[in-house]
Amino acid sequence: MQQDFKQALAEVSEWMHAYQQNVVKYPVISALTGGDILQQLPNFAPRDATHFSDIFEDFKNIILPGITHWQHPQFFGYFPSNTSPPSVLAEMLVASLGVQCMSWLTSPAATELEIRMMDWLRDLWGLPEAFSGVIQDSASSSTLIALLVARERATLFQINETGVAGHKLSAYCSSEAHTSIEKAIKIAGIGLQHLRKIPVDEHQSIRIDLLQQAISDDIEQGYTPFFMVGALGTTGSTAVDDLAAMAQIAKAQQIWFHIDAAYAGSALMLPKVRELAAGYTDADSMVVNPHKWLLCNFDCSAFFIRDKESLLKTFTLGLIPEYLKSPNSTDQTNFMNWGVGLGRRFRALKLWFVMRWYGVEGLSQLIRYHIDLSAELECWVRQDSHFEVSAKRNFNLLCFRLKASDEINLGLLRRINASGKVFMTHTKINQQLALRMVIGQTEVNQQHVREAWQLIQSSAKDLM
Ligand SMILES: *Cc1c(COP(=O)(O)O)cnc(C)c1O
Repeated sequence: MQQDFKQALAEVSEWMHAYQQNVVKYPVISALTGGDILQQLPNFAPRDATHFSDIFEDFKNIILPGITHWQHPQFFGYFPSNTSPPSVLAEMLVASLGVQCMSWLTSPAATELEIRMMDWLRDLWGLPEAFSGVIQDSASSSTLIALLVARERATLFQINETGVAGHKLSAYCSSEAHTSIEKAIKIAGIGLQHLRKIPVDEHQSIRIDLLQQAISDDIEQGYTPFFMVGALGTTGSTAVDDLAAMAQIAKAQQIWFHIDAAYAGSALMLPKVRELAAGYTDADSMVVNPHKWLLCNFDCSAFFIRDKESLLKTFTLGLIPEYLKSPNSTDQTNFMNWGVGLGRRFRALKLWFVMRWYGVEGLSQLIRYHIDLSAELECWVRQDSHFEVSAKRNFNLLCFRLKASDEINLGLLRRINASGKVFMTHTKINQQLALRMVIGQTEVNQQHVREAWQLIQSSAKDLM
């Protein structure tokens, strides 16, 4: 069958533009139940070619009704996973080029643009020049990579050679830290029993005294404390650990200090946030996801590391297979040696497009605007005596609750989400259920937030 790519492209780009304009009209989350989509999909791949117009119709009729609209301005759940016009344009070009970016030779521009984009981000977020950067697929991968390098450095690169048996390593993070740390601990062969989840204080930040205690106890028991994660914006409530105190402990005990700034790190463009995060520049490694709050669609995770030599030593293959050797590029950066995967997507292009389309000023203004909107929401919540704020607001996430039981708060959340107009999620803070409202969408404005708050208030009235 003859398929007309140009015609299809025109139809798709027309649709993409309309979607961007109209996303606010879709229900934020799908009203479907489990299996609804599966039922409409044939059990086997088609024998014959399907015309694109039919494929596209099915996309609209089968797939779209089962989409959660993450780009809806009233998507206030989880953390945002923003995209933006320049990011979409870059991704279309990347898909057209279809390149693999494992080594310099497999696309010199991809490697060199990635190097420069990481320089730009390092500067944007006030990190010291000693840091080298690389783009990974997710914060989970970035943290795993940090952990593996820390493991190797702490054991003089023995585990890579002889395995984990016989080593007694211990790692530290707060009880509010992200689950990706547990995953990394499992994958790296450290064992969950050797991850110390230190309790938090009333601001959900790690208890420094208990951290210190845990480290001394471990040393006494013959452990080698080797890895510590500081939170710059926890997922539950965007709490920030005392990073300066943690950096000091890490230095004194020669523990690798990794900072998980996956969500809130993008805001390090703002001087106030740098103050709040004081100490972050003393880390050994840090991860920030531009695919959350910096208008680059998933995936794009910025990973910074101070000790590049140890990173390369951990991941570089001792014997490079002949088919991966290149005749003349041995001195070049080969990002396949900076992480887990061999093949890599060309992710730097969207960063380049986004940072130039908006400019640093435009990006910081947007982040400031998001923080201001959530400050305004906080005022409204505090003025309504039926509600209370559950945790200190550091960025653009407000955690709050009805002054009622957890059950009633869950009922409220269900009612809000069932409206299809607004989507929120929840967390537990000091054992109490709290609603999480993150205001960080690319297109969100004050009207969207006001409408959402009115819906929350009226839903609460109906419940009581
Ligand atoms: C989202 C998030 C992660 C995980 O990010 P992925 O890129 O999905 O792996 C890790 N830590 C924090 C604090 C996060 O908010």
